[in-house]
Amino acid sequence: MCARLFLSALLFASFVDHGGCVGMDDDLDHDDLVGLSSEVNPHSMFYQSPIDLESKEAYPIELSPLMFKGHWTLGHKPLIKNNDETVEIGEASSAKYHASLRGGPLHGTYKFSQAHFHWGNRSSHGSEHTINGHQYSMEVHFVHHHSKYKNIKEARGKVDGLCVVAFFLKVTEKNPRTNNRFNLIVHHLTKLRSAKSEEAAEPNILTCLKPIATPGDYFFYYGSLTTKPYSENVLWIVYPKWASVTESQVDEFRHIRGAGNKVIKSNYRGTQDLNGRTVYWVTATSDEYSY
Ligand SMILES: [Zn+2]
Repeated sequence: MCARLFLSALLFASFVDHGGCVGMDDDLDHDDLVGLSSEVNPHSMFYQSPIDLESKEAYPIELSPLMFKGHWTLGHKPLIKNNDETVEIGEASSAKYHASLRGGPLHGTYKFSQAHFHWGNRSSHGSEHTINGHQYSMEVHFVHHHSKYKNIKEARGKVDGLCVVAFFLKVTEKNPRTNNRFNLIVHHLTKLRSAKSEEAAEPNILTCLKPIATPGDYFFYYGSLTTKPYSENVLWIVYPKWASVTESQVDEFRHIRGAGNKVIKSNYRGTQDLNGRTVYWVTATSDEYSY
């Protein structure tokens, strides 16, 4: 059985496992979840994110390599901005996306929309997902939408609309070392303290995450946005490896001001119930799909 069919079967099995019990909305049955309807049920709050990822409970599968294209050399005038809630990095022209993601659990190509950050008021917490109960200092999200939808707005209402890749950053007390690549992001932050401020960014601004973004060795599961409207149409890819950063680097994020000129000390959502979902642990096959 090819990897994609095998995966579809697994996903179907995982949804069927829930039978008719899919949340508070009795109108939603599993047909909606497996794609016979492409619209997201806006009222469901059953497959929420983030979650705790338990490595012992994850279902191991082999998939084609996950391929990042263009994330490390962003084109089309990359921008870094304070969007009121977080620091966001993206390409200036939404009509000319450059970076894309394919392979692994994805059916088709997903276009990069933006990267953003979650942090806490102390470095012992701040990540949204946790690994075996452990929370990291920060979490970075690379948000993508399926290329068959015009833009992220159109993809928001579709069950296969979004894919978010999550990376962890951790302040290490032993042998703290400045992460020079992370400074490509951090050095902008003093100029972005006011809400809605922005400036041009370097094309290689995200390269501090490149060593983590391997073709395999990640978790994936189906969940939701972690901010409003919490839509349940996100395929989450979460790397358990983390990049080392320093306390002073993370502290720069804690000076960002959001709505009402209030300092954003913390902007992460706590973990949600798994509610019987299957979490997969992916290793990459050596062969690649042809698209
Ligand atoms: Zn996020």
